[in-house]
Amino acid sequence: MKSPFRTQLPGGWPDEAPARSILFSLPPYGCSGEDRESLGSYICRLSDAQDIPRGALASRIVGPVARELFGADPRRLAQDIGRADYAASVSSQTEEANHWAYALNSLTLRNNLQLCTLLPLRNLVSPLKLMSSDRQFCPYCYKEDEQLGRSRYDRLLWSIKAVVACPLHRARLVKRLEQKRDATLPDDADTLLAQGKLSEVASMLPASEYEIESARLIAELLDDAVFFSGLRYESSAQSTFLVHAIDSLFAGKSAQFAVHLGVGKSQVHGWVKGKVRMSLPRLALTAYCCNCAIADILLGNRVLLSQRAAPECQDRRLLQAGGTGAKRPKDELRSELGEMIRAGATRSAAEAAKAVGISVKFFRKEFPSEHAAAVQQGRDLATALRDEARATYDQLYLAEHLSLQKAGIYPARRRVVSRMRGMVKTLGRHQDAQRAQLKAHAATGVRLATRGRRPSGGPGSQQQENRV
Ligand SMILES: [Zn+2]
Repeated sequence: MKSPFRTQLPGGWPDEAPARSILFSLPPYGCSGEDRESLGSYICRLSDAQDIPRGALASRIVGPVARELFGADPRRLAQDIGRADYAASVSSQTEEANHWAYALNSLTLRNNLQLCTLLPLRNLVSPLKLMSSDRQFCPYCYKEDEQLGRSRYDRLLWSIKAVVACPLHRARLVKRLEQKRDATLPDDADTLLAQGKLSEVASMLPASEYEIESARLIAELLDDAVFFSGLRYESSAQSTFLVHAIDSLFAGKSAQFAVHLGVGKSQVHGWVKGKVRMSLPRLALTAYCCNCAIADILLGNRVLLSQRAAPECQDRRLLQAGGTGAKRPKDELRSELGEMIRAGATRSAAEAAKAVGISVKFFRKEFPSEHAAAVQQGRDLATALRDEARATYDQLYLAEHLSLQKAGIYPARRRVVSRMRGMVKTLGRHQDAQRAQLKAHAATGVRLATRGRRPSGGPGSQQQENRV
């Protein structure tokens, strides 16, 4: 791939002089899946090194090359870089990341910048929920950067949603939120972060064995994906591995395998039949519980496996709901459920099922009348809560409507609603405001202004408008 910028050597240079890059040929930091720099971080460093703002770098230098190579719109690239989450999008597995990586390769005369994105996983792993929506970092990695005298850089691994720990430092990643602070951090962590006391923050967040191991497995996959480039996801390979695992670990009993992983039987069935593609978190869980690499599952390798207990994962969605309640006598469960319903203490059937430690499916099947009652109670409660919330909203609307009216200002809906800001949990949907407005106008007799027209009639209405 040739760029128009590079074909000419400065006058007087020998013809056989090696090609010169347009931009500094900065090597990306890191050499493995665990510590490789993300492309977003690389672009940031490159623009600093060149002393060019990121926007200008995108629109004037990278954009024209991307247009030449891919027919990409240079304005589009400049827009990408202007977004708050640009670092995540240029490091992802999308076409956009592809344009960035190869245009920068051409400009820096490098050939490996695509490894700073998730492009190597593009054909292997489902893109669903692959990228993390939060920016996260390992405080120890940053500390190490400082000690080595280099600028802090973001690792590609941190941009993956399923990764919550640093495999190198065995520490939990800290979420960096643009607006609000990380809810998982203790109260004094903000001050410590601001003071640069990174390891103190990290010690507040111990990572579980599973979190560390799954991050390591995913880092390993990033390396394997480079090695097996050109490989594509095939449901038959996934099936081959799972059949092998079920045969060798559980004598062909897939239900036992599902229990071992802590996932539903039907889900395992879907995977084995090749109807459902395993997501990255499930691949990591399965590789962890079978003591193998994620690539082994994707390639259908019949490797030697051993059992490792599923983690007591904090992610509830990863483990099947329910509990040990199903083993208890049914009469006992029935009376407990009945009592809860009579007391009106259930907000939904799911909550009632959870309280006695059974799954919703078991609840519905074994105790149909109690289930129906719990569902109805949940609905009634939701209706009551909604009515109550509406009444409060309307009351508040009326109060603000009246105070505007008293001040001689026409109580337009926009004005009333903006005065309610901070007084209600949400400002409600359009319909809520409309309903409250109609009620308030009916109650006070103020004529409703129609769109584009001032309310006519009513003494001094014109004056009232002018005062606003
Ligand atoms: Zn680290």
